[in-house]
Amino acid sequence: MTRTAIVTGGASGIGAAVSRRLAADGLTVVVADRDERAATDLAEEIDGRPWVVDLSDTPALETASVDCDVLVNNAGVQRVAPVHEFVPEDFRLIHRLMLEAPFLLARAALPGMYARGWGRIVNVSSAHGLRASAFKSAYVSAKHGLEGLSKVIALEGAQQGVTSNCVNPGYVRTPLVEAQIADQAATHGIGEEEVVEKVMLTRSAVKRLIEPDEVAGLVAFLASDGAGMVTGTSYTMDGGWTAQ
Ligand code: NAD
Repeated sequence: MTRTAIVTGGASGIGAAVSRRLAADGLTVVVADRDERAATDLAEEIDGRPWVVDLSDTPALETASVDCDVLVNNAGVQRVAPVHEFVPEDFRLIHRLMLEAPFLLARAALPGMYARGWGRIVNVSSAHGLRASAFKSAYVSAKHGLEGLSKVIALEGAQQGVTSNCVNPGYVRTPLVEAQIADQAATHGIGEEEVVEKVMLTRSAVKRLIEPDEVAGLVAFLASDGAGMVTGTSYTMDGGWTAQ
């Protein structure tokens, strides 16, 4: 039987690369995204299905019906400000979207996975799931929380054929990062190439952005049959950032 994957934030950036890759690997992919046009277009391109959903509306997810073999928790946003100036609703939005929604989707998907004795949960965390950076309190704390959630699911699902892991990229060439590059260039009054080299990649030993396809390859491995003994762990793809 064809397996089904739900990819949240599946219409752009890393999520779009993951959606395309899992579809190429033979899965039926549900592109879950709030961007109706992009989700519909991509779902059509890969013979999948769109699920137009605002994943920050967590009360609605408490009763959502979620049936899939592979769940990729990927949707995310960024807000940057020092803690003493951080807008509380921005903090809560990031935690709802990037921690509560993954919990609620897993909560809804796990019974089906348990019944079939097979499932894969892949959480797109970040180098910021393992390390902190100034001004990113909501993002760093949500990603650290996601790391913990992923490990608990791994322990609970272990006897039922369900694995749960995180992938931890450094900076990936996506719209989310391109917006940050443009912002930083304006803030520092320097060119965009200089922002990438001198601001974003200071901690990466390999001085280039990661391509979304590279992350998708790692997600596809973790979603495969061959990764059955890989669970409760976090795979960095950060050009050596966290080696230091
Ligand atoms: P992106 O902005 O290209 O794509 C994010 C997608 O999520 C978009 O399609 C957007 O519509 C969707 N989305 C946002 N809010 C949503 C909501 N409330 N409901 C439903 N969908 C929503 O971002 P990206 O760079 O591909 O990031 C994807 C994930 O990868 C995020 O969790 C991010 O934290 C993580 N990540 C990104 C990088 C990077 O450098 N780009 C590095 C490490 C981790």
